[in-house]
Amino acid sequence: MTGKKGMGHERVHGDTCTVPGCDRPYMSKGLCSMHYERKRKGYAMEAPPMVSGSVVDAFIERLFSEPQDECVIWPWARATMSGYAYRINPNGSNSVSRDLCRRHNGEPPTPEHQAAPTCERGREGCVNPKHLVWETGAENMARRRGKKMPQLRPPLTEDEVIAVLQAYSGGESTVSIARRMGVSYSRVYSICLKKTQVRPSFTRANALLTQLRSANR
Ligand SMILES: [Zn+2]
Ligand SMILES: [Zn+2]
Repeated sequence: MTGKKGMGHERVHGDTCTVPGCDRPYMSKGLCSMHYERKRKGYAMEAPPMVSGSVVDAFIERLFSEPQDECVIWPWARATMSGYAYRINPNGSNSVSRDLCRRHNGEPPTPEHQAAPTCERGREGCVNPKHLVWETGAENMARRRGKKMPQLRPPLTEDEVIAVLQAYSGGESTVSIARRMGVSYSRVYSICLKKTQVRPSFTRANALLTQLRSANR
């Protein structure tokens, strides 16, 4: 006998599998057909069920071809810790919601962005693409606390970078510049104090940065 010890064998037909979290119908020796096979072959009992790709693909296609407003609960495996819908996906993420969010909303703005369910039912396995948005951890917390995140301003233009430098040279503090221009403090700090070069196409701004750096100002 291979597999987990102590598996209950006393269940009867009509019952479900005794593996925790598995509610597949009982087949034999306390187990569903999948877990029975796993035990017989000595495979890991806890691994998510392997469903055939075409079944999963059809389910996912339906999410898009027959969009609905209510939560759609992923009928297969869920990640052990998070409860989020999970699958073995050699062509993408094992996180189902991440793949669905990408398909619904396009690529994540940054690698830090997570596919977040606005219905707050990701842990229950909701995979409705219409409920998914890309959010950073901070944005997610802010939304869940009912706060609006300040809208991210577009990146600084070359003229704005120069204006930041001129304001700093004129004696304005970095904090004041950041607040006045609606730019992050770290951005202003990196321009004014570290004199970090900006994007290569901003030749005038970069020349000014080099000049100020060598003048040590
Ligand atoms: Zn089972
Ligand atoms: Zn939902």
